[in-house]
Amino acid sequence: MLLAAADVPTMLVMIILSSLVTAGGMAVVGWGRQDDGVRLWALGLLLNAVTHLLFALRGRIPDLLSVVVGNAVLVGVYLSMLAAVLQFQGRALPRRLTLALPLLMAGCMALLLGSYSARVVVAGLLLCALNLWLLGSLLVRWRTVGGRGAWLVVGALGFQTLVLLLRVALVGVSPLAGSELLQSSAVQTMTFMTTFAVVLVASMGFVFMARDRADAGNRRMAAVDSLTGVANRRAVIAALDRDVARSIRTREPIAAMMVDIDHFKTVNDRYGHPVGDQVLCSVVNVLRERVRSQDLVGRYGGEEFLVVLPDTTVKGAYLLALQLCEAVEASSFIHEGHEIPITVSIGVFGGTLQPGDHWDMLISAADRALYEAKNRGRNRVEVGEVLRRPASQAAAASGPETQPGLF
Ligand code: GH3
Ligand code: MG
Ligand code: MG
Repeated sequence: MLLAAADVPTMLVMIILSSLVTAGGMAVVGWGRQDDGVRLWALGLLLNAVTHLLFALRGRIPDLLSVVVGNAVLVGVYLSMLAAVLQFQGRALPRRLTLALPLLMAGCMALLLGSYSARVVVAGLLLCALNLWLLGSLLVRWRTVGGRGAWLVVGALGFQTLVLLLRVALVGVSPLAGSELLQSSAVQTMTFMTTFAVVLVASMGFVFMARDRADAGNRRMAAVDSLTGVANRRAVIAALDRDVARSIRTREPIAAMMVDIDHFKTVNDRYGHPVGDQVLCSVVNVLRERVRSQDLVGRYGGEEFLVVLPDTTVKGAYLLALQLCEAVEASSFIHEGHEIPITVSIGVFGGTLQPGDHWDMLISAADRALYEAKNRGRNRVEVGEVLRRPASQAAAASGPETQPGLF
């Protein structure tokens, strides 16, 4: 029978080699990174190689080393992987346990030196408990860590837990099933083949988890303006593009605002660029505090902000713009005891759109309204009346101009 025939020392050597190679690969991946747990996972794999080396030498080295130390180090393997997952989640393993649990395992193994079956049951149950803790940690926070990597880790360790329980049950019910560690049997083949596969699959999953999170962090950074923390030009245009497409589909109105700080160059000239930067941030805070949760504020250019307002009529956008103007004027910016008066001008455009309308048409309409607001004395709101197509599209489009839903 194939299951019973697999040679245990050969399987142990396979586990040692796969653990060492994977630990090496993960150490390279985790190099210089403190907080994603990859290095702790690699440590777990290294300990896994040590454990299985001690197991492979059963009978050639004292049982104290192979059985007692070997199983204590095996607890270290599970603890390292648990600590890796906790570190990934920004948490830490209670320090006491890192010593107490290996000592508990060592004590149990020393007491049960005479019975291989009893050791399998006790060790199996302790390891299952650690695996369940790890699985629980991942599942409870699935919303923040879920993804293909976490699926691989949960799948592999979940399967290993079932195999461990099956092994405990088989050996518990019929002690002969696994009479000695190095003796080939179906139970041993099942156990060590599973360990071999789990080392590879769960480790690959954990690397994916770390990579996916790094990718998500990079994507977030690429979408944020580093000075003000709001969406940058690319991200706010992408959001407007998405909302324009949705608005055309649903026939819901949409609005956009261009907000520009008045005489900002004078602020820079008089107080210096760093103070100008602080003023920019303070204006952004006022805008962010006042808009609704579905609206998006983005930095369109130097001191110019685009606010995207989905499901908003032009009237609603106009009223919000008036509030924003007043709020910026009321928010006094104090520098070295002097109050620097800050105001903004806002151009608003809003309405229902037609197929063929494009995000840049909304921006142009809001921009033209902003230009009007500047011309009419600043610190005011103007509403764009017509959504004109850019010259390139005007020729192609034959229908009448889109009219905003004026109030
Ligand atoms: P207006 O009322 O017509 O808008 O006048 P303005 O002075 O605000 O307009 P203008 O476009 O002439 O000046 C914009 C200034 O914004 C010029 C530029 O130095 C400044 N600026 C652009 N980006 C930044 C930035 O990141 N930090 C600071 N401090 N200033 C910036
Ligand atoms: Mg300006
Ligand atoms: Mg400007």
